[in-house]
Amino acid sequence: MTTTHGAPATDAAPDRSDELPLFRAAVSGLVSYRPQKPALSPAGRSYALAANETPFGTLPKVAEAIAEAAAGINRYPDNAGQALVTELAERFGQSPEGIMLGCGSVGVAQQLITAVAGPGDEVLYAWPSFEAYPILTRLAGATAVQVGLRDDVHDLAAMADRVTDRTRLIFVCNPNNPTGTVVGRAELEEFLDRVPAGCLVVLDEAYHEYVRDPGTPDGLSLLPGRPGLVVLRTFSKAYGLAGLRIGYAVGDPRVIGTLRKAYLPYSAGSVAQAAAVAALRSGEEVRRRTDIVTAERARVTDALRKLGWRVAESQANFLWLPLGERAAAFGAHCASAGISVRAVPGAGVRVTLGLPADNDAFLAAAEGFPPS
Ligand SMILES: *Cc1c(COP(=O)(O)O)cnc(C)c1O
Repeated sequence: MTTTHGAPATDAAPDRSDELPLFRAAVSGLVSYRPQKPALSPAGRSYALAANETPFGTLPKVAEAIAEAAAGINRYPDNAGQALVTELAERFGQSPEGIMLGCGSVGVAQQLITAVAGPGDEVLYAWPSFEAYPILTRLAGATAVQVGLRDDVHDLAAMADRVTDRTRLIFVCNPNNPTGTVVGRAELEEFLDRVPAGCLVVLDEAYHEYVRDPGTPDGLSLLPGRPGLVVLRTFSKAYGLAGLRIGYAVGDPRVIGTLRKAYLPYSAGSVAQAAAVAALRSGEEVRRRTDIVTAERARVTDALRKLGWRVAESQANFLWLPLGERAAAFGAHCASAGISVRAVPGAGVRVTLGLPADNDAFLAAAEGFPPS
């Protein structure tokens, strides 16, 4: 008997079934991302309030665009994403050369980190903030520097103090996930003025469409004269395209031009690009939907505070309850009522704002848990 390669088989053929490839230490050290298990209430009704998705269905124009684009998926997408980039550029008064698409804004963020930071470099961000930042930093082999929030808000002065000559990238998440809190124009400008040349600041505005506070700057207005600043936006949240994976960065055309070289070929798919164009053209309906959510934000915040809860001041489509050591218990309490929320053990619970009936179910659960 011979093996498929023609060599004689021996009885003592070594068992290699446990010989796994070697991984970089940065990868073996990662903790697997554990998606939230959907909670099921005793009545069988469940409420998905853990992932900051929009509760509304697919925008009608988006559904049409997807159906049309589906006919062409045997072809590769436009690698430059020209139709979407042009639509974004016109809508936001930007140069098309200053816009880069990606596979969700997380995909764009990974390309940004990969382009500027490697082993020995530092990536700075507030904590708690977006859970993807530490993962992307580790994957790049860079060192994470986390600066605690102050009263649930970015402490920009403390962050500026932590910048070293090894800092290559700083994330500022505005509004911040998971707290929903914002930093204002003056303090953000002061911070940007303090960041040394050579360091990239990434302003993550995933929840921009939910901001109603006039003191919170539109990141795009901060771009002129600041080539070290890049604004990150996504179609996953207010536009409702989380399942399609598309986001983008806006910045100085010279900087974006270099970043584009790090673009993972074809990572923004054709159906996603077409859907995003249609979503941008549904601006009125998106505004109507975000108005409903922001009205709910005010209503639920008031109701919780009347019950004695501490609630962070949110400009996003979620609320943060800084419960500290009681966070995990409240997360479990919500799950037993069929409500999925995001509990950050030891810190707090983030609850996404849904439709009024979803939020009422959450309020009913909160009433059954002592606020302190
Ligand atoms: C949800 C979220 C995103 C969006 O990520 P996508 O990859 O675009 O889905 C980005 N940043 C923050 C802070 C978020 O909460």
